[in-house]
Amino acid sequence: MEQVDCVVIGAGVVGLAVARTLALAGREVLVLEACAAIGTQTSSRNSEVIHAGMYYATGSLKAQLCVQGNRLLYDYCAERGVAHQRCGKFIVATSLEQLAQLHFIHDRALANGVMDLQWLDAVQAQADEPALRCVGALYSPSTGIVDSHGLMLSLLADTEHAGGVLALNSPLALAKYTQEAIELVAVDGTRLAARLVVNAAGLQAPAMAARFEGLDARHVPTAYFAKGNYFTLAGRSPFTRLIYPVPEAAGLGVHLTLDLGGQARFGPDVQWVDSPDDTRVSPERGDAFYAEVRKYWPALPDGALAPAYAGIRPKISGPNEPARDFCIQGPRDHGIPGLVNLFGIESPGLTCCLAIAERVSEMLLNQ
Ligand SMILES: Cc1cc2nc3c(=O)[nH]c(=O)nc-3n(C[C@H](O)[C@H](O)[C@H](O)COP(=O)(O)OP(=O)(O)OC[C@H]3O[C@@H](n4cnc5c(N)ncnc54)[C@H](O)[C@@H]3O)c2cc1C
Repeated sequence: MEQVDCVVIGAGVVGLAVARTLALAGREVLVLEACAAIGTQTSSRNSEVIHAGMYYATGSLKAQLCVQGNRLLYDYCAERGVAHQRCGKFIVATSLEQLAQLHFIHDRALANGVMDLQWLDAVQAQADEPALRCVGALYSPSTGIVDSHGLMLSLLADTEHAGGVLALNSPLALAKYTQEAIELVAVDGTRLAARLVVNAAGLQAPAMAARFEGLDARHVPTAYFAKGNYFTLAGRSPFTRLIYPVPEAAGLGVHLTLDLGGQARFGPDVQWVDSPDDTRVSPERGDAFYAEVRKYWPALPDGALAPAYAGIRPKISGPNEPARDFCIQGPRDHGIPGLVNLFGIESPGLTCCLAIAERVSEMLLNQ
């Protein structure tokens, strides 16, 4: 059986960031990716926003890793020439009731270490973004956007430069813990023995863990899938910053984001689905977008939105359950030396990728 030091399952932005960190620490790394290219799943079906960290429960992994990841990602993009823009964002209240929610977000931001939010009244907000209708807004200058594909290519280049290897078209079928190593069996029958294994299979991470012989089933969460549909705006964007309503239960609300070319899109909404492959955008879902968007941009013209793409949130809590934190499950949690499972790495996982990678590598290299 072929021996390898570290195997990362999945070449999304998180798997690639983990592979890079392990490779830079001098470890031999093999990344197994089921698809024919890197980052074709959730990592290329998101808003590409570098979040600041104000939404998440204080002390949660999402809060800690977002604040840390935001800083790491800006530094990394600047150092490696990955396209990004610190464009800033407004979180807008469109009613007095929502103003109270903005106060809550502001207090939480301070508790999370996000110290740069600024209050804007309606006049100030409209002076900066004349198309906006609101009763008040919070301005986050450290929110931005990033070219997620450029980021993944750069993470892969660093990994390969440090000696790591990527194997595409290599879906892993099974894994088994033995006293000597973790044995891995690919779908084509190839067998490997690894010392360290990181399950970064995204939407498939719980299913992959369920096929890990020796891992107690109580450590494998149920996977739920919450689709987020996007619609693009025809013509020029009326806004220069990202515009977010106050958040909803399972997502951040139908917000306006910009790509690095300045094209505006709205989304994602929340549609619970049964399959992680259900990425078709139904044009009729756009109807609900008009009403949502017109709460903060009343001038949205009829017929201006066109179906774009959808991403699926890798949830580990169901529609009627409280949202769960990221689950970075290491040897101390499940008792298997050398194994880390990454479950529920939904938003802000892109922002957090470098911080998650540091956390995983600390868990494995100091076990
Ligand atoms: C709608 C939406 C909007 C979002 N917006 C943002 C945002 O603006 N900002 C932000 O910070 N985060 C955002 N996120 C979150 C972010 O996109 C994810 O956290 C991140 O992309 C997860 O990366 P990943 O590498 O864990 O998963 P993925 O990108 O899904 O990668 C997993 C990889 O594992 C591979 N794989 C699966 N099974 C196997 C197997 N058995 N063997 C080998 N390979 C396998 C898959 O093919 C895939 O390439 C958003 C997510 C969604 C759904």
